[in-house]
Amino acid sequence: MSTIEIRDIKAEPGEKTFGFLDIGSTSVNTYRLPVAIINGAQDGKTLGIIGGTHGVEFASIEAVIRTIQDLDPSKMKGAVLAIPVLNGPQFEHRTAFLSPFDQINQNRVFPGNPEGTLSHRTAHVVFSEVVSKCDALLDNHGGDITEDIDDMVIARQGDDEDVNRMAREMAACYPTKYISLMERGGGLTMTAMDEFGIPCVTSEAGTPHNVRERHIVFHYEGIMNNLKYFGILEGKPKIGKPLVGPKRHSFAARDGGIWHSYVELGQEVKAGEELGNVTDLFGNVLETFAAPEDSTVSFLRVFYSVNCGERLVGLVVLK
Ligand SMILES: [Zn+2]
Repeated sequence: MSTIEIRDIKAEPGEKTFGFLDIGSTSVNTYRLPVAIINGAQDGKTLGIIGGTHGVEFASIEAVIRTIQDLDPSKMKGAVLAIPVLNGPQFEHRTAFLSPFDQINQNRVFPGNPEGTLSHRTAHVVFSEVVSKCDALLDNHGGDITEDIDDMVIARQGDDEDVNRMAREMAACYPTKYISLMERGGGLTMTAMDEFGIPCVTSEAGTPHNVRERHIVFHYEGIMNNLKYFGILEGKPKIGKPLVGPKRHSFAARDGGIWHSYVELGQEVKAGEELGNVTDLFGNVLETFAAPEDSTVSFLRVFYSVNCGERLVGLVVLK
């Protein structure tokens, strides 16, 4: 095993190190990317693990931090390059979906641009200096400020069937009931499949209000199981048999107003069961929503005000 170096963050075989990479400046500050290098004592694969690409998806961030703490490089064959909070501006400013500096969704601009605004530069540093050294990539997400999302994983699919199969197996390393396949990168971190030919998945679980232990554990178990899948940790990975691309239903507000939910995340609902309604500012009901068939609540808006076209409820048919 050789030394791993990313600028001045350097880890010899058997070492765990931490540091920050400068990304770009505002008028008074320099923004930095936190990076942990956990370099195993023996040779093996390198897994990239990201949290906080959306900076308020806290369950994912906590899972990556626990991973960094728990891994013992003396027992590892291979390495982990981990970014606990990729989107520092959104994390610090608690903004919804977009960076407060350039009003960009960080997960739409990969592979980035070294001469662009802060989100583009962040993407460029992440890809060129961290992900370029990896054999596979796990990007852990969840619900943003208005959202609550239950456990699922997206596997990127491209032109190489071997890489596609690995991505599906990596997704099944998470304790998930279903996975969804995505054919295009669209500026997501999973664009790394196009850039570097590596398998990529995106896990989704959690909400910022409040962070649930079961969502942290979902991401954490998926990460640990992937480390076994790649032989970096000892032991046999538990690869489940999740449904692939099950039928889903999604409901959005026709008009803006106030959202009242009648259901909880993860709740099983019967055909015809009411899910919630949208009223105007005088309390008049504008729209009600009902489940079209027996299904499970997989996505929920957890915010009082709603604007036209915004998503309210997602259902998945798990049978
Ligand atoms: Zn996200």
